[in-house]
Amino acid sequence: MATEVNDVVRNVIIIGSGPAGYTAAVYTARANLHPLVIAGSVTAGGELMNTTDVENFPGFPEGIMGPDLMDNMQKQAERFGAEILFDDVTAVDLSGEIKVVTLGDGTTYRAHAVIISTGSAYRELGLEDEKRLVGHGVSWCATCDGFFFRDQEIAVIGGGDSAMEEALFLTKFASKVTVVHRRDSLRASKIMADRALAHPKIEFIWDSEVIGIKGDKKVEGMRLRNLKSAAEQEVAVTGIFVAIGNDPRVDLVKGQVELTAEGTIAVDGRTSKTNLPGVFAAGDVIDASYRQAITAAGSGCAAALDVEHYLADVEAAATEAAVAVSN
Ligand code: NAP
Repeated sequence: MATEVNDVVRNVIIIGSGPAGYTAAVYTARANLHPLVIAGSVTAGGELMNTTDVENFPGFPEGIMGPDLMDNMQKQAERFGAEILFDDVTAVDLSGEIKVVTLGDGTTYRAHAVIISTGSAYRELGLEDEKRLVGHGVSWCATCDGFFFRDQEIAVIGGGDSAMEEALFLTKFASKVTVVHRRDSLRASKIMADRALAHPKIEFIWDSEVIGIKGDKKVEGMRLRNLKSAAEQEVAVTGIFVAIGNDPRVDLVKGQVELTAEGTIAVDGRTSKTNLPGVFAAGDVIDASYRQAITAAGSGCAAALDVEHYLADVEAAATEAAVAVSN
């Protein structure tokens, strides 16, 4: 049921709408390249849509709410003429000179260049009951679900910035937040770690992993194992927020572009160039180290500039070929 929209070959299609995608959109739009952004349906705006205060994005001395920041980026891209579709890409063909991007309803778009900025996806614990109890006490999003846990005892799993951010946010609702971490020290930045460690409503269970989630229709508790002593314990909680990091979202391009050993899209040095001409990647999907909103935005800028140069080369080559034919 493929519905071919038209045969127009666009300059560039940007897949993903986090800080990388929207920054690439702002730059390519200002360069008159009329980018098409496929923003995603439920994932539009990327991970910052699930965060509260963003305190470290330069330019906002009082901080800004994640969704507001993304809304601003979207409006900024649109102001310069970026076209944004709130739809999901289900397939890409990146092999030829003209790249083909297909949406869920079969509609296809073509472009000389594509920027992959699909970000990353929440990591799961991998427990049998985890999926079964999603929406019934298991969650990956404190800002979405925290409200339902007023005056309840809940847990956050993880020791990074995300876990601390979730735990601190959840103290607004919960009577007690237990952070379960598999080591005896936090990976989180010092400022976030200190805030969580000093919070009267937050307790820590160290060196422990979750080995089971209890509850038939909703979460009633978790089974933990101490990784040093192997001792097991049960802790009664009504909510479990999993915040153990993210994996790059590469399913769409797997088998087409080269990946790194860490699972991110491989790019050439500090550029956004993948192994395929005309295919560029930016943001968390290429970043196994920093994964900040501001580094993703910078990476989106680099991708836009790389695309500009690439398209200029493509045009120059086409002009040269046309001159050669006419001679
Ligand atoms: P992260 O830094 O990779 O931390 C993931 C945490 O989960 C680690 O403590 C890790 O343990 C633990 N973990 C991983 N797999 C696990 C498993 N299977 N079972 C149990 N625990 C597991 O991820 P993140 O916290 O999502 O942060 C990602 C990036 O975003 C970081 O660069 C962070 O600074 C940034 N970020 C920043 C802010 C902010 O500045 N406000 C907020 C959120 C995120 P180990 O420590 O043992 O590896």
